[in-house]
Amino acid sequence: MVFKTSQLTIKNLLAILTLSFFTIQIQQQLTKMSKEPFNKTILNPNETLTRGELENLQLRHLRDCVRRLADVPFYKQKFAEHGVNHESIRSLNDISRLPLTTKADLRNGYPLGFLAVPREVVARFHGSSGTTGKPTIVAYTPDDLKLWSELCARFLVSGGLQSRHTVQIAFGYGLFTGGFGLHYGVERVGAAVIPAAAGNTRRQLMLMQDMQTDVLVCTPSYALTIADVLRNDNIDPASLTLKYAHLGGETWTEQMRETIESSLGILAFNNYGLSEVIGPGVSGECIERTGMHIQEDHFLVECLDPETLKPVPNGKPGELVITAMTKQAMPILRYRTRDIAVLYDDECPCGRTTRRMSRVIGRSDDMMIIRGVNVFPSQIEEALLRVEGAAPHYQIELTRPGTLDEVRVKVEVVPEKFSDKLADMASLKRRIEQEVTTITGLHITIDLLPPKSIDRFEGKAKRVIDLRGMKVEV
Ligand SMILES: [Zn+2]
Repeated sequence: MVFKTSQLTIKNLLAILTLSFFTIQIQQQLTKMSKEPFNKTILNPNETLTRGELENLQLRHLRDCVRRLADVPFYKQKFAEHGVNHESIRSLNDISRLPLTTKADLRNGYPLGFLAVPREVVARFHGSSGTTGKPTIVAYTPDDLKLWSELCARFLVSGGLQSRHTVQIAFGYGLFTGGFGLHYGVERVGAAVIPAAAGNTRRQLMLMQDMQTDVLVCTPSYALTIADVLRNDNIDPASLTLKYAHLGGETWTEQMRETIESSLGILAFNNYGLSEVIGPGVSGECIERTGMHIQEDHFLVECLDPETLKPVPNGKPGELVITAMTKQAMPILRYRTRDIAVLYDDECPCGRTTRRMSRVIGRSDDMMIIRGVNVFPSQIEEALLRVEGAAPHYQIELTRPGTLDEVRVKVEVVPEKFSDKLADMASLKRRIEQEVTTITGLHITIDLLPPKSIDRFEGKAKRVIDLRGMKVEV
């Protein structure tokens, strides 16, 4: 599969326009919503290195990482197959000679096949939040834990955290890396932690009011739940002392950000990470919020075409492939995250010189290739959320009646807007189709359905029905 350049160029242009639009909005919001002057401290000098200084550091770290991995059975075998060792890494481009690592490889090494230090040195174990089967276990030495706290502290500070703040962590604590990662990050900054953990939303609100919480840490969907309860209980968001939220652990949209910010009266920042490479702390937003700064002194991030595994040019969407160069207990080479995002290397006014990544726009395993164009269910969902009257309940059906792919999206109409007036429904259908075309670059037929006619899912929703391989009997 080859990315269609023309489509992507249009899409990128749209992305840039959207981004500029949001930047203007953000500036307006900042004046409106900041409850205190924003602290623009940069925690670590490595966040402002020149490209040359950074690349020298990265090369040293990469060679050291390959050297340390030589005794891990999986890499030992792969290095032999690829004919590489740490001495073959002469420039950062040589990373393409190194083997990729997949989730399946980690599963095959369950539980500790990828450990690169003696077990006695390990200080902590965590696990992936996988929904089926055994988790993927990851390990940390005391130095890894220190590094992890530092990385979380960096993005917390870039999103306004100060040592005098009180932070309520409403993430799950456990094998999942979110709770503990952020907890120690907050402590590293010197702020106070309320380890509230996830759930019991009314108690969260009570703590928030009584303890005068400044910063909320949780998933974006839990922030929405908190906002819902706030509205139901008629609590005025202006009565809260809450100023910022640091949200991560799942994909979310700009529309969700706007809802969370206006209903809680805060600024919400996005951060990114995954347990396989360390947990939260890989990247996070600064006040400009035009992408998340990648902590490039510790992670080498490639953006590859998920089919050809060749690098995509900067500014084009691709799969993030991450090397955690400096982890001691379990460094990982070129981990295929399956997360699709865009990298930006233009200058950021905040002063940090690191490259930035967009929010995750899809998963390469969810990617549909329609008439040669890559489309993600999340893009369809984004279009639906932009049109008043469309419910976020939908199903995408792919067929190939002749030689061309056809896509129909069945969408529920919200009860308040569902009507037997044909003209109203036709106009709603047209608006959704226009929005879908703007975001995906494809014309996709929309079928409107009455409320509650699409099956609800308790776990992961099955959004895509691909019938293109099916013979249609005539
Ligand atoms: Zn910045």
